[in-house]
Amino acid sequence: MVRRRSETVQVGNIAIGGNNPIVIQSMTNTDTLDTFATVEQTKRLADLGCQIVRITASDEKTANNLYEIKNQLIKQSYNIPLVADIHFNPKAAEISASLVEKIRINPGNYVDKTWSEDFTWQQYRDILKKAQDKLFPLVEICKQHSTAIRIGVNHGSLSKRILFKYGNTPIAMAESAMEFLRMFDEMNFRNIVVSMKASNVKVMYEANKLLVAKMEEENISLPIHLGVTEAGNGQDGRVKSICGIGALLSQGIGDTVRVSLTEDPEQEIPVAKALANSFKDIYPSSCEEYSPQEKEIRKIALASVSLMQKETETLQWEDEALAQEVMQATGTKVFKTEFIACPSCGRTKYDIQTALNRVKEKCSHLAGLKIAVMGCIVNGPGEMNDADYGYIGCGNGLVNLYRKGKLVYNSVKEETALDKLILMIKQDNNWKDR
Ligand code: SF4
Repeated sequence: MVRRRSETVQVGNIAIGGNNPIVIQSMTNTDTLDTFATVEQTKRLADLGCQIVRITASDEKTANNLYEIKNQLIKQSYNIPLVADIHFNPKAAEISASLVEKIRINPGNYVDKTWSEDFTWQQYRDILKKAQDKLFPLVEICKQHSTAIRIGVNHGSLSKRILFKYGNTPIAMAESAMEFLRMFDEMNFRNIVVSMKASNVKVMYEANKLLVAKMEEENISLPIHLGVTEAGNGQDGRVKSICGIGALLSQGIGDTVRVSLTEDPEQEIPVAKALANSFKDIYPSSCEEYSPQEKEIRKIALASVSLMQKETETLQWEDEALAQEVMQATGTKVFKTEFIACPSCGRTKYDIQTALNRVKEKCSHLAGLKIAVMGCIVNGPGEMNDADYGYIGCGNGLVNLYRKGKLVYNSVKEETALDKLILMIKQDNNWKDR
């Protein structure tokens, strides 16, 4: 297997793609306005080997504070490139573009969300033209400051026009990125990295393969950022990430990775480093020998490919629990409850790590259910996607509870939220005693 050929994109002092080693990324989960906490967490991540750190810039005020964060880091000799994470606010993107090395935008919610079933193809083209006009000032700032852009497509937040045309599918994700790639190409801007993330490993895998095929068709060879989003915590989160990211790396696809865990972001780095070092036959690595952990990751990644490509239907491993984890992560067989949980970020207003552990403790025996625990009500409801139940922090000590994407309980105190979630599961006859 050989590495997919890609251009090199420079993000500050770090090169992504080309013949460069896989770049390790993570994201802070501190309040971006808390400069000290964000700087300290970024430093800890850098010390562990993280090479690029993403920080939430949800509005103009937080975007402006990136200046202070960057300054503090440089004063303390940390020249690590920063990425501003933008969801809805073009102004925050434009401010950030002159302050940090990279901007991440989500094509699903960054510009025009209008769509109606009656729209014509001409109206579709008009919407894209409007989107391009909105992107133009950002591109100009990026060109002026050599700032890179990540087109970060998320399965849970595709635009209405894309959903209408392609449904909630891997092809919709790839098309969502291609819409923006074509716009950037027309503006003569290629300082771009692309990502296709989903909490469903198979969807993430297929979306990336489709993206590669589509880029090849249109003679585009930009680097790819890999991640399984809302993977959760512990062994579940690690296995899901290895199955999705590892499967693609084993085929030479991917140039930079983030392992998203609902744990302190520092915990993500050893897993990401091991993943990056597990494919030394394809990617440059600092050591030649495979560690036992890297051998295990290769085994999981290759099994994951076989399962997702339906070359095999089961895994007969001595470690039966691990085999079951891999089969569940790839959607081959269901053995237990699936938990979808975001890693949290500067938008999170409650202790999601404790919340996830409490929900898992009570509900992990309910095989066949998907339960989401998310950090914020701005992106959480969309990104928890097809979960049966959702538990989302909506303010200090308060939780919203959802059934099949519909809000059932609003602003419940955290002390009673888990009982109410269990009550909903019982009302639906989905509860079983252990
Ligand atoms: S869903 Fe989680 S990771 Fe995504 S924006 Fe909200 S808090 Fe941040």
